[in-house]
Formats: sequence, C-alpha cells, structure tokens
Amino acid sequence: MTVLIVGSIGLDTIETPFGKKKDILGGSAIHASISASFHAKTAMIGVAGSDFPKEHFDFLKSKNIDVSGIQILPGETFRWSGYYEYDMNQAHTKDTKLNVISLFDPRVPDKLKDAEYVFLANLDPKLQLKVLDQLTKPKLVAMDTMNFWIETKREALEKVIKRADIVLMNDGEVRQFMETPNIPVAAAKLLKLGVKTVIIKKGEHGALLFSDGVHFSAPAYPQDILRDPTGAGDSFAGGFIGYLAKTGDISQANIRRAIIIGSTMASFNVEDFSLDRMKSLRPEEISARVEEFRRFTEF
Ligand code: AMP
Repeated sequence: MTVLIVGSIGLDTIETPFGKKKDILGGSAIHASISASFHAKTAMIGVAGSDFPKEHFDFLKSKNIDVSGIQILPGETFRWSGYYEYDMNQAHTKDTKLNVISLFDPRVPDKLKDAEYVFLANLDPKLQLKVLDQLTKPKLVAMDTMNFWIETKREALEKVIKRADIVLMNDGEVRQFMETPNIPVAAAKLLKLGVKTVIIKKGEHGALLFSDGVHFSAPAYPQDILRDPTGAGDSFAGGFIGYLAKTGDISQANIRRAIIIGSTMASFNVEDFSLDRMKSLRPEEISARVEEFRRFTEF
C-alpha cells in the first residue's frame, strides 16, 4: 500500500552541542518520507525552490520515492534554522523563511488521489487541507504540526485536526495547543475534537498513545549516540505510518507495534546530522533494534 506524505522540503541550518551545519537537507516531508520508504512504497507532495540541490532528489529516488507530486518553483527553498542545548528535547527556532512554500498550491497527481495511508507532516494547515480535499478514499489520515502554526493558523489547524484519525504532536505543542500543562488532559481535549487517536512524542522519554478508554506508553531507545534531534518527530511518524501501510492493519495492537517501529526509525535519524544516518541504514539494523526494544520492554 502506498503512503502519501505532504510536508516541507527544506534546507536547515542547525547548531547542536556537537557541531553546526548550514543548509543541510531537512523538512518534515523529507524526514518522514525517507523513514516511511524503509517500510512501504512512499510518494511525496511538496515544493522546493530552484536552488534545491539535485543530489537530494537523487537520494529520494534511490529510496524509490515517487516524487511526481513535488513542484519546483522559481525562488528559494524553505529554510529553517535552529539550535539545541544539552536538553536536546527542545528545539529553539532562530529563523523560519517560508520562501516558495508561501507560493505553493499543492496538486496531488491523479494516480495518487486514491492513496489510503496519508501523513500530513508539519506544514501550513491550509495546505494540509488542500491536499486532503483532493483525496478520494483515505483510510487513515495522520497529521503533525508545530508551535509556528499553532500561533499563526489556529483556525485552519483545528479543521485539519477534525478530519484526521491520528494526531501526532510533541508534548510542548500539545500543552500549548490545548492550553494546559497536563498531558492526559490535553489528549482528552484533542479526542473531544473528534480525533480517534492522539500520539504524544516526548523525545528521549518515549511516546504516549491516548484513544477512547485506551492508553499505551512506549519508551524511547536508550540513545547513546545523539548528534542532531532534528527530524526525530517526522521520522517517527514516517516509520509509524509506513509500517501501518505495509501491514494494512490499523487495529490497536498493530498501532502499538507501529509506535515501536516509529521510535526505532527516530532513534537512527538522530544519530547524525540531517539524514546522514538514513543514508547508510540497513533493514537488518532496523530489525535488530526492534528486537532490542522487545527485550527491554518485556516484564
Ligand atoms: P521535527 O521532526 O519536529 O524535528 O522536524 C524537523 C523539520 O521540520 C526540520 O527539518 C525543518 O525543516 C522542518 N520545519 C521547521 N519549521 C517548520 C515549519 N514552520 N513548517 C514546516 N516545516 C518546518
């Protein structure tokens, strides 16, 4: 089953205690799609500027990702710059330049309109809605967002949330969005908006699932190599939805397994800057880490 992912395609400038890198490959759709592509056939919708290096397209194609929904517009690619301190759960944004994203009118190619597994990665919620409007029979729609859109496009964001089956947010975002410091209360408020499942990502503290009367808590991988947490949330989501699409099973039990797959993919992505670790990642390494997860969560 194909996974359709829409989100940002970006060039990030990132500073962590382990170094500073300028204009490296990033963006929510990029991190999510590369991660999903390890599990299922993946197609991407997004926009890049004329300055977007060809080698990055070659990387997407090497992962067999369908790039027919990517537009190249004259102008500069989206740029995000941020830094992390020793508490790497918290990204600090220095600057966001939407550039060609502000001109983007997403068009889903005809052959992808019947996609069943859809991930609306972090992007202007008005654009997330435009993509949703073009789909004919989505079976599972998951979405993500961030403080930038919570602060600037709240109304549109609520519309996306009401149409999503699964909302993924990090702990800081859900607290901000639901205006409460209490995560279970924030999750309950989101469920009241009509969402079936809420997944809250807590960085090095794992992920929590809330659904009608159901709660599940997954630990994070005990990360001994952590150089750049950028894209952890997106690679989590990509692995999560990729696994659901591959198995075609959206039962509660399988959603729990998908959370472990998502956590595994995120744990690899943060081992190096940008998507560098994903470039060398092998399927056997993924299975071995999932097995480790199984061992340390069993009691
Ligand atoms: P995360 O998985 O939350 O760490 O997401 C990281 C990616 O989100 C980075 O590679 C950025 O390019 C991208 N990003 C940052 N701000 C925004 C935004 N306002 N809209 C869309 N994508 C963004």
